[in-house]
Amino acid sequence: MKVLKFGGSSLADAERYLRVKDICIACHTETGAAVVLSAPKGVTNALSLLCDEAASGKDYGELFAKLNMVLFGILDDLKINVPNFSETKLADYIQHTLNDLNQHLEGFALLRCAPEQVVAKVLSIGEYISVNIFSEILSTLGHANCIIDPVKYIIAEGDYLDSIADVSASKARFSDVDISGKQILIMPGFVAVNDAGEKVTLGRNGSDYSAAILAACIDAQCCEIWTDVDGVYNADPNQVEGAVLLDKLTYQEAMELSYFGAKVLHPKTIGPIAQHHIPCLIRNTLNPAAPGTLISNEASTKWTSVKGISHLDDMTMFNVAGPGMKGMVGMASRVFEIMSNANISISLITQSSSEYSISFCIHSKDASRAQDLLEDSFALELSNQLLEPIEVRHELAIITLVGDGMRHSKGLAAKFFSSLAQARVNNVAIAQGSSERSISTVIESNKAKKAVKVVHQNFFSNLHAIDVFLVGCGSVGKELLAQIARQQASLLEKNISLKVYGIANSKKLLLQSNGIDLNAYWQEALGQSDKQLSIENLINFVHNNSLVNPVIIDCTSSSQIAEQYPQMMLDGFHVVTPNKKANTASTEFYKLLRDTAQQTNRQFLYETTVGAGLPVIDNLQNLFYAGDELVRFEGILSGSLSFVFGKLDEGLSLSEATEIAKKNGFTEPDPRDDLSGMDVARKLLIMARESGLTLELADITIEPILPSSFDASGSIEDFMARLPELDSLYAQKVAAAKDEGKVLRYVGSIEHGKCVVSIEAVNESHPLYMVKEGENALAIHSHYYQPIPYVIRGYGAGAAVTAAGVFADVMRTMPWKQSI
Ligand code: ADP
Ligand code: ASP
Ligand code: MG
Repeated sequence: MKVLKFGGSSLADAERYLRVKDICIACHTETGAAVVLSAPKGVTNALSLLCDEAASGKDYGELFAKLNMVLFGILDDLKINVPNFSETKLADYIQHTLNDLNQHLEGFALLRCAPEQVVAKVLSIGEYISVNIFSEILSTLGHANCIIDPVKYIIAEGDYLDSIADVSASKARFSDVDISGKQILIMPGFVAVNDAGEKVTLGRNGSDYSAAILAACIDAQCCEIWTDVDGVYNADPNQVEGAVLLDKLTYQEAMELSYFGAKVLHPKTIGPIAQHHIPCLIRNTLNPAAPGTLISNEASTKWTSVKGISHLDDMTMFNVAGPGMKGMVGMASRVFEIMSNANISISLITQSSSEYSISFCIHSKDASRAQDLLEDSFALELSNQLLEPIEVRHELAIITLVGDGMRHSKGLAAKFFSSLAQARVNNVAIAQGSSERSISTVIESNKAKKAVKVVHQNFFSNLHAIDVFLVGCGSVGKELLAQIARQQASLLEKNISLKVYGIANSKKLLLQSNGIDLNAYWQEALGQSDKQLSIENLINFVHNNSLVNPVIIDCTSSSQIAEQYPQMMLDGFHVVTPNKKANTASTEFYKLLRDTAQQTNRQFLYETTVGAGLPVIDNLQNLFYAGDELVRFEGILSGSLSFVFGKLDEGLSLSEATEIAKKNGFTEPDPRDDLSGMDVARKLLIMARESGLTLELADITIEPILPSSFDASGSIEDFMARLPELDSLYAQKVAAAKDEGKVLRYVGSIEHGKCVVSIEAVNESHPLYMVKEGENALAIHSHYYQPIPYVIRGYGAGAAVTAAGVFADVMRTMPWKQSI
């Protein structure tokens, strides 16, 4: 005979009761079935809430009416769907039960409390109604069945609401039960009886345990737990995308996973089935064809090391500490005795090796009781300052990694904790089971979802996430989005999930929880959004969506956004930008950026601020890491001015050359930003600072292309109309240079600690002679690179190369180098 248990999720409505019936009949025909049923979905929760509301004097009428509707709704539907279904007897039974319930609730309201003894009776109502419904279905369809009342059979002791069964005493009572398989046995789960003959419950979610007890009592060949998922996964499939179904678990692994929060199985279930070596299958009522997960003595050969991650929420941690703890014999046992006498179960314990403190976690619902008890019991030690005031931390969660194979694999703990660090989760306390079958860490509850997600990613899916928020949709921003859209699929094949969750311009912010579809009309969606960019908006979004690796890409040229980088990093974002404003603000701010990045373990990446897509900054940093030092630098750092000066060589006038550069999108929207020399000065300052010089923007000598006598005011159009006034001046300069076999170049140089931006005439043998058409060239003369300098040369302007450089920086935010 097999025991089949169906949880509330399998009993949500009439249709599901009928599915359950089909599964039971099929099994009964084959092996004989004993069925354990939970209450219909949501009913025990409603009953529990009704008790609380009545006891606190609240009006529970609406909830009561809802419960009434759910139960009679199931009957009505069964009447429609099962021919000859006679609901009168059942309706009477339910009505009678609800009347009793109402009386109990009135009593609670009068007493202003709900005694556990009575609550146990109330909570079990759902299970009794459930078995009566099911028995009626079977009887109507002509299947012999018999209801077993656990009050006559399942003996338990302990708390009224969380009892533990005495399996051998219970087993003795089953001698009068006919297990020949003639009829289908049906037992309400969750319920038992104590020594005094009172009804007790086995703890919330305890029907799984009832099934295990029944299986042990009738020596069942198998105990099947039917639920709403295909089996046990390596993480809650309803919370973790990509959770993997496990084929097999040992009893110990299942125990550990469920103890630390995998709700699919109640932790007490394992005891009876493991002791009696009864295999247990977890199966899906909604997908009976799936093989399920087998829990037995057999280990999986498919998943050998870590089996799963679970998390327990609503935890409170106590820390009992003080100088009096040291050497005081029996302190730990006193603490634990207090908890055990009060029936408070401890989920995790850590003790410092100095014996100076003991920390332990309990369920938050017991926290205030536990605190009162500890403070009363240790009143003397507390008043004599042998103990420090007992520290209590609320709103915690325990994350646990489970697997039998863990004891044979090295480095799992390191990987576990580095994953948590990656998600920027602090460990409040850590414990490793002595069986080495589990490692647990206590963290803040609001980080639990994110922590489970990243640990799962690193242990099971190898999927690295990059969660992008783009600020600024000008030419580079737009091009970057287009490049990301093109690359997303191929990156995913390499296990990199690059998603853009947010796009902002100066007016609006678009956020989408599943990631923005870059091939769709995001511009329209952005236009219609009613949100505006603020770090707070982004933080809330990251939190609500448990994003692990958020990156802000600033494609604006705004100083206001740049000022916020330190705060962005403090809030957990990496920052990637081609915007030069942050790195060219004060030295103090420049240092703050680097200190914050280091302290927060976030990346601040700005490769494209010099030389657009050319690999300048990274190479320079690597040289200096290796002990090199800058001797002299010179270069053409502006793509637009490289183009303009190249055109002067060819005989074009300054205004013509500028006009073409502007038309081709090489210049800034306002060409004065280029011609003023400020853009080159900023790049030069970044180079100088990277090389270790402490300089401000004001320290840079700039020879602007526009002489000070020239009126550069007015609109862009006015300015462009006036520009030909400078043509003859530049024609003369070009001609003078040409006479000496030279060309003009707009050069940034660093020498002897000084930075100069100037128009230089260079001859054919000069490395910058051939640099034009938008090219950049950087010649780095250093101790290692002499007499021939280290030269970096290539396109240094244009949205495509800049966006590609930003893209490369974005990829560098991945924790490749950590061994996860
Ligand atoms: P039932 O009503 O059948 O007793 P539960 O809701 O108690 O069902 O348990 C099933 C739920 O357990 C699943 O829907 C799933 O969300 C949750 N769960 C948590 N951890 C796991 C896990 N590791 N594997 C499978 N399910 C899990
Ligand atoms: N119905 C009970 C509960 O919801 C027992 C169970 O479903 O396992 O806690
Ligand atoms: Mg359950």
